[in-house]
Amino acid sequence: MNDTSKHQGLRNQLAKLLEEKGIRSKNVLDAIRLIPRHLFLDSSFENFAYQDKAFPIGADQTISQPYTVAFQSELLDIKKDDKILEIGTGSGYQTAVLCAMGATVYSIERQNKLFKRTSLLLPKLGFNPKKLIFGDGYKGLPEVAPFDSIIVTAGAPFIPQPLMAQLKVGGKLVIPLGEENQIMTMLIRKNETQFEKHEYGEFRFVPLLEDKN
Ligand code: SAH
Repeated sequence: MNDTSKHQGLRNQLAKLLEEKGIRSKNVLDAIRLIPRHLFLDSSFENFAYQDKAFPIGADQTISQPYTVAFQSELLDIKKDDKILEIGTGSGYQTAVLCAMGATVYSIERQNKLFKRTSLLLPKLGFNPKKLIFGDGYKGLPEVAPFDSIIVTAGAPFIPQPLMAQLKVGGKLVIPLGEENQIMTMLIRKNETQFEKHEYGEFRFVPLLEDKN
């Protein structure tokens, strides 16, 4: 598969749709227009890749719906060179959006097959996260913390305490909370001990799984 003007046209349409659905951030919409989503999917999805839908990526996981990616990315309000931790690399599409927005990105994935595939794909497409990690996102990445923002891209039954501890003061944690459906939730760290909580309506994610090791 390659990237053609037809794909570019579909991406422009997708960005327009997301704008109509309420996405305002120019940085986010620019990233949607830039990133060849069809190359993050199996070739059998090529004709659907720019629909605003989630699709299977193997290992029982999905690439998030573009609206969800855009919504979470807008909440993070990324500034250039922000240090961001992503939990749930999956296809790497959200990772690429964060890279395109100028962030320094660390991303953790617990499925080895996806970790390996995405580790090869992202640099091939010209996206260079600082580090992709095979491991358990519930633990975060204490050796690199604190982070300007943390984004969780799987449905979490509760807020993992290590992720709160690894946020800078003023930093944001964007996490879909719940079992069956999730409420998009943002915590802003006010100081060492206090967090402000905001909620943004229902979304649907695959579950954030506890490590069995
Ligand atoms: N951002 C990804 C979303 C993939 S779905 C994309 O748009 O493609 C969520 C991902 O979270 C899956 O790949 C799943 O394997 C991963 N995941 C689930 N539990 C995890 C955990 N505890 N630590 C790290 N990754 C996890």
